[in-house]
Amino acid sequence: MQFMTSDNQASAYAKRAFGLMEELNVPPIPQNYEIWFGYASDQIPSLNKALDKIIAEKGGFTIDISSEIYRRFFSNVENAEIINETSAKIENEVSGVLDILGTASDEFAGFQDTIKSNLQDFTSVEKPVDFEEFIQNVVKETWKMQDTNEKLQSQLHKSSSEISTLRESLEETRKESLTDALTGISNRKMFDSFLARVSEEAVAEDTPLSLVIADIDHFKKFNDTFGHQVGDQVLKLVAADLSNNVKGQDLAARYGGEEFAIVLPNTKSNNALILTEQIRKSISSKKIRNRQTNTDFGAVTMSFGIAEFRSGEAIERFIQRADEALYKAKEAGRNQCMLAEN
Ligand code: GH3
Ligand code: MG
Ligand code: MG
Repeated sequence: MQFMTSDNQASAYAKRAFGLMEELNVPPIPQNYEIWFGYASDQIPSLNKALDKIIAEKGGFTIDISSEIYRRFFSNVENAEIINETSAKIENEVSGVLDILGTASDEFAGFQDTIKSNLQDFTSVEKPVDFEEFIQNVVKETWKMQDTNEKLQSQLHKSSSEISTLRESLEETRKESLTDALTGISNRKMFDSFLARVSEEAVAEDTPLSLVIADIDHFKKFNDTFGHQVGDQVLKLVAADLSNNVKGQDLAARYGGEEFAIVLPNTKSNNALILTEQIRKSISSKKIRNRQTNTDFGAVTMSFGIAEFRSGEAIERFIQRADEALYKAKEAGRNQCMLAEN
């Protein structure tokens, strides 16, 4: 993360960061230092808010909290920086447009004044020759206005096309920051924000919500036997299978290494189980082959834990229940789905 600081400022932030870390007994590892330097610099308001809240609620700063904060605020920082920069550019363009519009209304007011004063001159004098002069003045002023108008229009046109290019690139960066680079499906960050949103909706609308956590069976052995690159291909295949099997309002995401999650709004766990069984069968029935070398890698299987949201329960608890069900599926022999108790 690049903080905007001078050397003097940086050393003041560093001192403050170390002071705070000592006060809160935070182990001085680089990850923690980066977090607390960020806090001391006061440049990421949401980071400071989150840390204040955690310290107030939990009274301390554990390694789990540190990793979670780091993931939320310091991974994908490049994208966050691009988003900030692009937003600033958009703001600039918009204020440019507002200036242009301000100029346009000033110019128009000037034009009206000139016409009015010409009109007054005209009505106060009776000689016919003044009529010609009046017309000439009005024509001259109208041309001037027309010219200004064209310039303003082309400026506006330029600004608005610049804004739409910036908006597109912002949208692209946003999408990228929510997508898993290897598999192309949603990443953990997207999963977190999606689950937070749909669980609120489930409470507000009193609708069911199910969560599936899936993990590839014996994937370490698969990697060890066939190599990490083949393993990566399997991850892609699994991701494609999951996203092909969910649709509409559902979300399939890569939760972590070889774990995936499916969020199913408006779905009770019995229906989630039917869908998950379908996915399980679809994945386990696929033969993985390298067509070029004609190598057969056999099949991979997955285990699944399914939980239905208990209206109002903490998200962490909801995920934990799905995780525990997954663990039970592993214990019971893998390649199966297990429902969490409701
Ligand atoms: P289990 O059935 O209990 O889940 O066994 P497992 O071997 O799948 O579980 P374990 O947690 O021991 O190993 C997970 C493996 O997943 C280890 C790691 O090599 C592999 N893995 C995690 N992320 C990636 C990745 O991005 N690419 C590849 N190829 N492998 C990965
Ligand atoms: Mg695992
Ligand atoms: Mg596994």
